[in-house]
Amino acid sequence: MMAIERKGLSNKELDEKWNVKSLLGTSNFKTQKGEKYGYRTWILHLAPANISGNNVCPSASIGCAAACLNTSGLGCQPSVINARAKRTEFYFGDREAFMLRLEDEIRKAIANAERAGLTPTFRLNGTSDIKWEKIMYGPDKKNIFQRFPNIQFYDYTKIPNRGKKPEPNYQIVFSRSEDNERFVKKAMEQGQNVAVVFDKKSELPNKWGPQGGMIWNVIDGDRNDLRFLDPPKSVVGLSAKGRATRDTTGFVLYGTGVIDVDNLKEYRKRAQKDPSILGQRKIDGEKFVPIQSKVSRASAERTAELLRTSGRKARIVEHKPTVGGKSRKAWAVYTPGVYARTKSGATVGLLSRPSRKRIPTVRSY
Ligand code: SF4
Repeated sequence: MMAIERKGLSNKELDEKWNVKSLLGTSNFKTQKGEKYGYRTWILHLAPANISGNNVCPSASIGCAAACLNTSGLGCQPSVINARAKRTEFYFGDREAFMLRLEDEIRKAIANAERAGLTPTFRLNGTSDIKWEKIMYGPDKKNIFQRFPNIQFYDYTKIPNRGKKPEPNYQIVFSRSEDNERFVKKAMEQGQNVAVVFDKKSELPNKWGPQGGMIWNVIDGDRNDLRFLDPPKSVVGLSAKGRATRDTTGFVLYGTGVIDVDNLKEYRKRAQKDPSILGQRKIDGEKFVPIQSKVSRASAERTAELLRTSGRKARIVEHKPTVGGKSRKAWAVYTPGVYARTKSGATVGLLSRPSRKRIPTVRSY
């Protein structure tokens, strides 16, 4: 592969102008796990959403922007936030020079991986959602994937309809948020896998699907970040990190979002043996128990709808759970019974303590 001759400012002058030490890094904990599988992944991190003043995530939701990975791990440190902001400035300030610099770094990274006996892979949207396949540069107007046709690139995206592989060597995983669930089925049909953030890894469900029927096997996406190795038609279960652990928008699922009605019997039996796990309360004189809590109103309504279509009563209750030391507004779903929760209800925190006093009912309907 021939490097493209750069016109205008030299590398040194560009470095001084944009003050960017490097575009790519390998410091992500999860990508480092990939080395066990023989891959070395480099990630490009920009300042997500529009926190730099320029929007790099056109389809970001309120929940994902607030909970973005930019707030987990090293992403919280001022020096890292600053470096990401500078790269974003460079990207918007001189696109051609940025792409040429990226290409140089990719070439060096490939050599580095090969020296270490590893296969190089690249994730250009570490904390952004840019359609890199559309960015043509250089005198021959090719995109970055066309310049490295034998190298595997991959990304997560919230932009619907980008297709499984906009380029043969660029694999994309659709990333579910609280406002794009309606595109999940289509993404699966197009051959993309779908990433879903759950609150606790220990509670990753076996299967997940949005409202409306279809469900797919959930795989543990935290084992590594090598999404191009995942089996097709999989839901990639990720555990919430950083601010996502305090999400109440519905971006993070506190449970599967699918109520496994058949399993309710099992929990009813368990609750009968162990009354301490009951979290029941009276609503309109009838005993109800919570089966889902700390979710957005939209999520609660979906759950209630599922219960109602399976012939059960459901009540949605606004409550104020304490999350991350702060009182938040969220919704819980109650249904008549004496069981504690479903496998997919994931209300352990609320049910493990006497919830009646701690969750004041503001309104129920
Ligand atoms: S989660 Fe993705 S789309 Fe949302 S703000 Fe972060 S990088 Fe952007």
